Amino acid sequence: MKDLTVIVDQTVALPDAPYQARHFIDGSFVDSADGRRSDRISPSHGVLASQAALGTEVETEAAIRAARTAFDDGRWSGLTGKERAQVLNRVADLIEANEERLAVIETLESGKPISQSRGECGGAADLWRYAASLARTSSGDSHNALGEDILGVVIKEPIGVVSIITPWNFPFWILSQKLPFALAAGCTCVVKPSEVTPSTTAMLAEFLLDAGLPDGVCNIVLGFGNPVGSLMSTHKDVDMVSFTGSTAVGKHITNAAGDTLKKVALELGGKNPQVIFPDADLENAADAVTFGIYFNVGQCCNSSSRIIVHEDIVDSFVDRVVELSRQVAFGNPMHPDTQVGAIVTPQHQAKIDGYVQDAKAEGATISLGGGALEVPGVGSQFYQPTVVRDVTSDMAIVREEVFGPVLVVQTFRTMDEAIALTNDSDYGLSAGIWSDNVHTCLEFSRRAQAGTIWTNTWMDGFPELAFGGVKQSGQGREIGQYGYDEFLEVKSLVMRIGQTRAPWVKPLAGRETS
Ligand code: NAP
Ligand code: MG
Repeated sequence: MKDLTVIVDQTVALPDAPYQARHFIDGSFVDSADGRRSDRISPSHGVLASQAALGTEVETEAAIRAARTAFDDGRWSGLTGKERAQVLNRVADLIEANEERLAVIETLESGKPISQSRGECGGAADLWRYAASLARTSSGDSHNALGEDILGVVIKEPIGVVSIITPWNFPFWILSQKLPFALAAGCTCVVKPSEVTPSTTAMLAEFLLDAGLPDGVCNIVLGFGNPVGSLMSTHKDVDMVSFTGSTAVGKHITNAAGDTLKKVALELGGKNPQVIFPDADLENAADAVTFGIYFNVGQCCNSSSRIIVHEDIVDSFVDRVVELSRQVAFGNPMHPDTQVGAIVTPQHQAKIDGYVQDAKAEGATISLGGGALEVPGVGSQFYQPTVVRDVTSDMAIVREEVFGPVLVVQTFRTMDEAIALTNDSDYGLSAGIWSDNVHTCLEFSRRAQAGTIWTNTWMDGFPELAFGGVKQSGQGREIGQYGYDEFLEVKSLVMRIGQTRAPWVKPLAGRETS
């Protein structure tokens, strides 16, 4: 397609050989008992990126057993917070030292640009350091006004064995939003990455080992949701499941975990709107909209896949977004200037295109894009930046997560209308408001149903700030103090001081006991 910015050349070399990913169970790297492996072909370069052991119930059972034993004997939960923090900080150092190795394989497996893989993998070290700092904050509270002879103390304890199941869109980042926090709390873990992006998770095991994490505290099983993820969600020896992925699988896991009443924490999808008022810094808003939809090719739970624009400015605003869209550098993910890379699988590419073609058939207008993008040398598993107008609220493209570089435009006249459109969704992950009027921003922030509200910005995040969704975007929170607390169980200690307890049994005079 003409008039788009497409980067063809490549500066970062491909590795000499595919990465060999193995399970990490009880401190050892192992292949599957049946010897099966899966191949991951790079979505952008068509080369064999990695070969990974393909786990079954055998490896999953062994990993859960190792985690259970390691938790129950206190080899990790019995350490001080300071000692746990030291290990996590060493892992952070090793992540930074290995940033380039991680980034290259992350780009090859996921198709995302190398600059963003570097940011994702290297940047994750900060999540490990922040979690390390929390390892020293497992404090509860004390109650000193319950009577002269009573002291009440509420303590926090690690919840136990945690299953961590992650998706392919930010494999290393999402893992780092969960694992170091669970470890900081004193939990032991079984981790399963997506089978299409197993390698950075497998590589992390090297760092855990080198950092001195005791055997069995973190176990990694590679393979498919079924059977590996299923057993991790149903096994009686698992106390909690922390899952990030699609809403459909999240619901399935909730049901599966119900039989043993495990705690379930879910980070699911979103259909996140940015609302643009006419008094906003419109140039900045247009740039943020462009970032919000094309970052990670729109394969983001936080993707801002719809905008709700005031009718007075919608034409000029969308024109500017289209203009900026043409300037975003799509193309070879192994060039440092590339901003948008490949689509993760051909099936996902077909799903994205299906949403666009259906919308077109239902009367929507395609203002830009709307089809595959051929990048010479690296193939056509790319999708054009796409802007869709004249949509109605009942269209699938407006209601469902497309998970691609496809923006839909809705319009409003009043704050009530903007709020109604924002909240007319099964999802509630994030929402944004653009206005120079603080009252407009505050009113929107209060009334919008979402776990995160961005005002005059998009997708800024910090380890300190809790992240998660309302409605069908999930349950529980990740990162921040709230995210840490998810991995802790609360226990109340009720303590009597002195022999003041009045007896409950009061023998009645004149009655025989038999
Ligand atoms: P997915 O299909 O839901 O898979 C996520 C993980 O769950 C994968 O490791 C998958 O394994 C595993 N899984 C599949 N079936 C399972 C089962 N029955 N029991 C246990 N585990 C099972 O999601 P995806 O396609 O990888 O990722 C994209 C989705 O994730 C999008 O919908 C996106 O919105 C969501 N997401 C949400 C957030 C957030 O924080 N809210 C962040 C990122 C992504 P296999 O696929 O390897 O079989
Ligand atoms: Mg999947």
